[in-house]
Amino acid sequence: MTVTEPATPLSAATAAACADDGRLGEDDGGGRRRHVKVAIVGAGFAGLAMAIRLKQAGIDDFVVFERGDDVGGTWRDNTYPGAACDVPSHLYSFSFAPNPRWSRSFSPQREILDYLRDTARRHGVLPHIRLGTPVTAMRWVDDARVWRVDTPDGGVTAQFLVPGMGALSEPKLPDIPGIDGFEGALFHSAAWDHDHDLAGESVAVIGTGASSIQFVPEIQPHVGRLHVFQRTPPWIIPRTDRPLTCAEQRLFRALPAAQRAVRAAIYWGRELYAWGFTKPQRMRAPQRLARAHLERQVTDPGLRAQLTPSYTMGCKRILISNDWYPTLTRPNVEVVTDRISEVRRRSIVTADGTERPVDTIICGTGFHVTDFPAGDHIHGPGGASLGDVWNDRGSMEAYLGTTVAGFPNLFLLVGPNTGLGHTSMVFMIESQVSYVLDAMRHLDSARATTVEVRPEVQDAYNCDLQRHLATTVWNAGGCRSWYLDANGRNTSLWPGYSWRFRQRTRRFDPWSYVLRHEPAHPEAAGPGARVLD
Ligand code: NAP
Repeated sequence: MTVTEPATPLSAATAAACADDGRLGEDDGGGRRRHVKVAIVGAGFAGLAMAIRLKQAGIDDFVVFERGDDVGGTWRDNTYPGAACDVPSHLYSFSFAPNPRWSRSFSPQREILDYLRDTARRHGVLPHIRLGTPVTAMRWVDDARVWRVDTPDGGVTAQFLVPGMGALSEPKLPDIPGIDGFEGALFHSAAWDHDHDLAGESVAVIGTGASSIQFVPEIQPHVGRLHVFQRTPPWIIPRTDRPLTCAEQRLFRALPAAQRAVRAAIYWGRELYAWGFTKPQRMRAPQRLARAHLERQVTDPGLRAQLTPSYTMGCKRILISNDWYPTLTRPNVEVVTDRISEVRRRSIVTADGTERPVDTIICGTGFHVTDFPAGDHIHGPGGASLGDVWNDRGSMEAYLGTTVAGFPNLFLLVGPNTGLGHTSMVFMIESQVSYVLDAMRHLDSARATTVEVRPEVQDAYNCDLQRHLATTVWNAGGCRSWYLDANGRNTSLWPGYSWRFRQRTRRFDPWSYVLRHEPAHPEAAGPGARVLD
């Protein structure tokens, strides 16, 4: 079996600008590391937003660790054919960096990646970024009252740790009997093997989620036979994508307020979905629209029945596509709804006993979201990892998706219950970043060194959150989605209007936290410092 690693197009310009400054990650021979105010992990939308806003606030004392060879996070890794955003470009971008040059209303992956590279360069954060540097451990050293961030070539100590690794960064391969013994090519949509030629092959695609519905129409004309293995059909509505005209681009360049107005209109239009999501019965009208879309595009009653979801629309992410259904009606495509029972060396066998010979398997099977693998590498004062703490509690939990009781000076970006089903994650990221900045400012003005959310505040917050989520379409819509964890608890989504999250994070709320004033001793946190495991 061949499993390929993500193709990470290294931008020479980015790499050159990110050249090592010669100090990071090296100790001084006496066991001391460089100490920074803020260590950020990840250079996708979240990490870059934090870095840029720090810089804008006059704080230069930070470093960004990025395991990939370029900035861009999910938009660097997901290079599959047809990859594009399903949130309009004017909204899926930083509020402080509008882009008048978007070529389409829904941007393709490459353009978003270029936008992130360009924004990072223009805001002067590239010299702070250490590319190709995976963080191996993040430990709070209690004696020193700092975070110790380890990388293969050393690391730093930091007053604040800001993990911004994103929720969709660890591809999930299906656990199907025999899959490890498959002898053809096998790769995940987020690790597309561009060197592998699919022409004329018999190809199996497992999964019919947001990624598959984008790449399947792209590969269908080239492959010999395409077996699409569908476990649950998605609800799909038309994609209202169009090229942006030169006149529009000129207008946005000359009059940025016009682009801001379009952005605001898109934002408030999408907030209407939140109204629908909070009560499943409110989704009846959009569901009729989706059903009409299916009926218009698929005339065969058998196929139509296979593609009709049995849960309320919105329970899983609503997908947008104009070419998914037509592609499934092509003569070389078969939609398989029987459960896969086994993968053999060169074939896939379904529960009804049918064996289909395949050359390549492409897994559009999503990501590790509710198990947050990075949590195993973040260790608090007692040595327990965030993963352990959340396992003991049965679920991931944070306060405002950002701070966690028992983990001082830790600010998660895109943490628990900050995901959205209806609008731009960039909006949530910017809300969190402004909250974190305000917290740092508050600590400085109060001459405090550490901040930790009160456990009772976190408990009350999560209790309230789960109460609101209980009646939403995600919890009560009759489906099983990645929004819910193994215990059926929704630890992924913010329950409703995103502006309410913005409201909650507008100002740091010191009364929810314990602040301490004992001085930090970064020099005590070198490789020899006492760290509990
Ligand atoms: P996904 O939406 O989670 O879809 C995964 C698919 O794989 C589902 O159809 C799932 O079936 C199926 N699956 C998973 N494990 C399986 C197994 N063992 N056997 C058979 N089928 C299996 O994953 P994704 O398409 O990678 O998208 C993930 C998220 O990324 C999206 O929800 C979205 O938030 C984001 N995304 C966004 C964009 C964008 O345009 N902004 C584009 C792509 C992705 P079930 O439904 O039955 O679980």
